[in-house]
Amino acid sequence: METEQVADAVAERRERLIALSREIWDRPQTAFEETDAAERLVRALADRGFDVEVGVGGVETGFVARYGEGDPVVGTMGEYDALPGLSQRAAATREPVEAGAPGHGCGHNLFGVGSLGGAFAVADAIDAGAEGTVVYVGTPAEEAGAGKVYLARAGAFDDVDALVAWHPGWYNAPTKGSCLAVNGFEVTVRGESAHAAAAPEAGRSALDGIQLLNTAVEYMREHVPDPVRLHYVITEGGDAANVVPPEATAEYLVRAPSRELVEEVSDWFRQAARGAALMADVDVDVTQTSGVYGVRPNETLGDAIRSTMADLGPFEIDGADAALADDLRASLGDVSGAVATLDPEHREAARDAAYFTEPIDALDAGTTGSYSTDSGDVSQIVPLGRMTTATFPVGTPLHSWQAVAASGSTGVEGMLYAAKTIGGTLVRLLEDPDLLASVVAEFEDRGGAAGYESPMPADADPYELLGVERPGFDPDFGGNVTTVERAGDD
Ligand SMILES: [Zn+2]
Repeated sequence: METEQVADAVAERRERLIALSREIWDRPQTAFEETDAAERLVRALADRGFDVEVGVGGVETGFVARYGEGDPVVGTMGEYDALPGLSQRAAATREPVEAGAPGHGCGHNLFGVGSLGGAFAVADAIDAGAEGTVVYVGTPAEEAGAGKVYLARAGAFDDVDALVAWHPGWYNAPTKGSCLAVNGFEVTVRGESAHAAAAPEAGRSALDGIQLLNTAVEYMREHVPDPVRLHYVITEGGDAANVVPPEATAEYLVRAPSRELVEEVSDWFRQAARGAALMADVDVDVTQTSGVYGVRPNETLGDAIRSTMADLGPFEIDGADAALADDLRASLGDVSGAVATLDPEHREAARDAAYFTEPIDALDAGTTGSYSTDSGDVSQIVPLGRMTTATFPVGTPLHSWQAVAASGSTGVEGMLYAAKTIGGTLVRLLEDPDLLASVVAEFEDRGGAAGYESPMPADADPYELLGVERPGFDPDFGGNVTTVERAGDD
């Protein structure tokens, strides 16, 4: 099937895909609690004839859907969690739907549905005679909780030969760079409470333990390799100045370009925590709350994505949405800093437009971005092609109210563009064994999957670590949907 036919297969489902993205946008749910979104996506996949397994890796809202038979196996994945506090109407002024409620500030309502549209187009190609299988992995809790790590640990990506995914953004380009691996820690210190003035000698300050640890972290910063990043916040430091704090907690992140370096600096950090506890004469408990790999790039897949985009060309936003796009763009003010990240030849077109939709080459080839994503683990197991499409007006920062507004309105054209690009690229991988072989060869050259070891301890419980209740997600799907048995189920 040619890219043009794949694009038609997406276009035929245009209204349904847009409606689904709005339904998820209207009901924003945060990490591990995205039951409504997961249910809608699972039902849509099951309706299209996919076999779906729900609750993969002990994550209730995580799922794996498959269509077709045998090799090769190509796949995509979808995110669908929202961000706390970002509630916003689909309007060009700051206006929450419900103050303090969550909102789709990272466009994950588009992310999940765009990937779905791509997977459906591949299923159509399989019906039309392409050989192989297409997989859609539903990956909850990207914004917090690193859900993909638990799906990866459970083998959800193991039999996939190549995976193509995307993220909402403000231009159309493959993503070819890497990013930082990270470990997260929660440190709890316990001391002895006492009257801070009348009996200080009877107290041992838990806050002192945290402060001494933070001092150690400041000194560590000078003696770690340059790209390492260390961050912390004190989440609980006591209640009153005249009471010696009996308990204090803080959160820490250790980032570095490789897992090895993250582990090395993490060992030093644990040692510093023990030292701080000794100095303050308190007890310390260090819990690893997250751990992900950096992304392993696959430039061959990046080039395949780029050439699918070249086939598709740019897209347009018209009608009432065009006016809203202009207003949203105007609300951002000066975006010259963002525009300056583009190649000089594209800056003028981007500066003067609400949306910049001409496909361009990757902006980050050969670089390591100062961010982390749980897609990193996926990229260690399967060749991962990444891209961004123009769901947002030029220069829109992620996690802004403008991103929420566009995710519920003008962003759908970029979502459909992502669906076409994913579908077109995956169909080419199914139909062109040489292309797939060179994608896999690059993956093997960069180390292959053999060295993957989950960065999270085997007994790590994602819900407990994030401090959220298990939602008890268990709708009556029936048919071709099965639910993984949970620990504690009869
Ligand atoms: Zn995101």
